[in-house]
Amino acid sequence: MPRFRTPPTRFHVAIAIAAAVASTLAVTPAASAGIERLPADVHAASQAIALDLDPSRASYSGTVRIELTVTKSRPDLSFHSQKISLGTMVLRGAAGSNELRAKSEDEEGLVHAARADGAPIEPGRYTLEIAFTNDFDERASSLYRLKVADDWYAFTQFEACDARAAFPCLDEPSVKVPYQFTLTIPAGEEAVTNSPVVSDRTAEGRRTIVFLKTKPLPSYLLAIAVGHLEFTAVKGTSIPTRIVTVKGKSGLTGPVAAMVPPVLAALEKYFGRAYPFEKLDLLAVPEYVYGAMENPGAVTYSDQFLLFDPKSMSVSQRRTLARFTSHELSHMWFGDLVTMEWWDDLWLNESFAEWMGDKIVTQVYPELDTRVSGLSETEQAYTEDSRLTARTIRQPVTTVANLLSTVDALTYQKGQSVLEMMEAWLGPETFRRGVLAYLKEHEWGNAVEADLWRSLSKASGRDVGAMGSTYFNQPGIPIVRGELLGDGRMVLRQSRFLNYGLRDSLSRLWQIPLSIRYPTPKGIARHKMLLAGSDTTVTLPGLVAPPEWIQLNADQSGYYRWRVEGAAMTRLASEAVRVLTPRERFGFLLNAYALLKGGAIRGDEYAKLLVGFGDDPDPSVLSAVADGVGTIHAYFVTEDLKSPFAEYVRRVLGGALTRIGLEAKPGESASVSSLRPELFMTLADEGEDAKLRTYARTETDRYLSGESVDPSMQGASLHVSALDGDAALFDVFRKRFEGDPVPSERGRLLGAIGAFQAPELRARAFDYVLSGPLKPQELNYLLGSLGSRPEHEEEVWNWVTTHYDPLVKRIPSLYAIYVPWFASGCELTRLEAARAFFADPAHLPPGAEAELLKMAASVTECAGLREREGAALRSYLHEGVTAP
Ligand SMILES: [Zn+2]
Repeated sequence: MPRFRTPPTRFHVAIAIAAAVASTLAVTPAASAGIERLPADVHAASQAIALDLDPSRASYSGTVRIELTVTKSRPDLSFHSQKISLGTMVLRGAAGSNELRAKSEDEEGLVHAARADGAPIEPGRYTLEIAFTNDFDERASSLYRLKVADDWYAFTQFEACDARAAFPCLDEPSVKVPYQFTLTIPAGEEAVTNSPVVSDRTAEGRRTIVFLKTKPLPSYLLAIAVGHLEFTAVKGTSIPTRIVTVKGKSGLTGPVAAMVPPVLAALEKYFGRAYPFEKLDLLAVPEYVYGAMENPGAVTYSDQFLLFDPKSMSVSQRRTLARFTSHELSHMWFGDLVTMEWWDDLWLNESFAEWMGDKIVTQVYPELDTRVSGLSETEQAYTEDSRLTARTIRQPVTTVANLLSTVDALTYQKGQSVLEMMEAWLGPETFRRGVLAYLKEHEWGNAVEADLWRSLSKASGRDVGAMGSTYFNQPGIPIVRGELLGDGRMVLRQSRFLNYGLRDSLSRLWQIPLSIRYPTPKGIARHKMLLAGSDTTVTLPGLVAPPEWIQLNADQSGYYRWRVEGAAMTRLASEAVRVLTPRERFGFLLNAYALLKGGAIRGDEYAKLLVGFGDDPDPSVLSAVADGVGTIHAYFVTEDLKSPFAEYVRRVLGGALTRIGLEAKPGESASVSSLRPELFMTLADEGEDAKLRTYARTETDRYLSGESVDPSMQGASLHVSALDGDAALFDVFRKRFEGDPVPSERGRLLGAIGAFQAPELRARAFDYVLSGPLKPQELNYLLGSLGSRPEHEEEVWNWVTTHYDPLVKRIPSLYAIYVPWFASGCELTRLEAARAFFADPAHLPPGAEAELLKMAASVTECAGLREREGAALRSYLHEGVTAP
């Protein structure tokens, strides 16, 4: 599955907009009638697809040939074909050939075709041949075309149900068969599919390429690219590997070409087997809705995430490239070699690819420090799971709308986090043995949840399904409350963690693998246990009295919140640097944020806690502190608090920036390089630091004049100099955006275009959303930047509602379901306006309703928090200003 992570410039953007574009699944909006499945008594064996593709023309033609076996007499055959003009359909069997006629096509493209003579289709083996013509899609879904300079290209994106809009097929993940492509394209152009070329001939201006029959694949993993493609060979992999770009971009493939061999080798080592397919191409696609997509042999990426000029590549871009690449290549085993039987087990693809991907990045590139910094993404899942709107990861997928709702932080990050906890519980080697047995047993086929539990239970001798089920088959995140008794024992109570004022109608229990750390007279002890009951008294080995401090989520490896009554928790906060690892300190801050939202700690306590962590020596922990400061800004800071808040920001983060300095030092760690722009932006923007703003403008001028600048600071400098920028600077950014040949630069410049504060320049930026030469996936990005401050949310919301129709026409169809998030923030009146706006069914495509509910929960939560804790925080901030 593709994924899309917008690099948020602010924590607030993360909640308002990452959600708006965070998700990733292309489904043509359709009525929310139940999905009708393919019949069980027809089995496909293989499919051949011949297409005549000239991307400079709006339409194309083709034929498909499906080999199948019918096991029971039937009135008709079913296949998927959405809005395709079907031509002749012929069914050839032992008893001869018969023409078929389509009887019906439902909204999701399921076609029932019967024999023209009305006779039933008897059991036997058949070849179904269908001729058709179709238009290319023009909005980056299914088989689509786009123009770059003077050249036309065609690319595909099929997951979840868009292969059926490109050619007739059996479009369900459990139908895994070999496919064989034959593409006829204009002479002089190139074509790529999942498999290597078998034959290639050119005659009369047309080039016909026959591709090798693929391994058994589900239709959602097929891929095609056609046009004036360029290839960069990658050396050092077990199979032929290339980076594929449009014309003129192969000079930007260096960073990814260097990354693929070590990442692939590390995966092959973990799985104890070679990459399962014949070749590997990584394609940079100029118009692409998602982050990347794991088509075997032909992995597609949005070009901004694949192509880099090393001179301008920041540490965070490098981290994203590593994570995307590792995630997608992990899918070659999780998802491609073994595929979920149906969409309800999407987590078997995505949770695993997230878990494995990050594990490999940590191993191959430890300097990128993803193990600590990655926690901020897990927080998205924690946040969602703390609301009553949280859904269960595994749920029956019966409609397109609820298929869309399964592609979220819960399937990705919660799943990843639970797998990590399971791995720590069973031990990495045992876990690996179970996983490998599962892959071996189901290779080239499909699997369901129970298959995985069986393999893991067999490998470990424990009931893994009983534990896993409490996380994958019920919503929510548990909180473990510890109460230390006088004799060294502790009472542990578990319940669902919910934000303040929320009650679950069910009392739920989890099986939680706990890992506890605490000091004893003989040193630091670690106690592991599986907490299953609601109320459990445990003896802490080595203790006869309460410990000074206790950490209930050692290594931050468990998916739960926690709290200890009394002094032990306060002491832990003040001793954190000494006794906790950086990952635990990061987790401690996230936990504190949750306790604030749950009503267990006060607003001023949270603000004070961040001050204490402002001295932390670890760069990733400081980045979590900066996120916390961003949270206070988003939730509490109204116009009158700006100045005391600016002082607070300087007090919390100023020292850290002084310590690391504004200039990168030779040989400094990647996490320092990526922290610097975060601190710099927060201090210059919310911290209103005039010197930093001047510095940003100097750096921007150097960048614009072509001098070399620190690539990690480039985006931050552009953003900050836009804050006070004038019309001349706006025009410079706009021209640069329109002409920059490096795709990854577009995001930085577009973000900066949305950061100008002068009202007339904001008006121009709003115009630019619809009038500028933006790619479909870039419109939301600019709107996100325009709305990244609480005081601008209303303006963005008003703009979105008044320009709803043209906006929704331009953005990829999938993005329409996330439009409700433009009403997010803290304002209940805007929430009411949004409810009224989306009450019109024309404004609410399938899938958007769930997003509206989630957005509403986040606004209610924010408004409640502001009302509850606003006064305490306000007086704390004012005190800070007057304090000596
Ligand atoms: Zn994925």
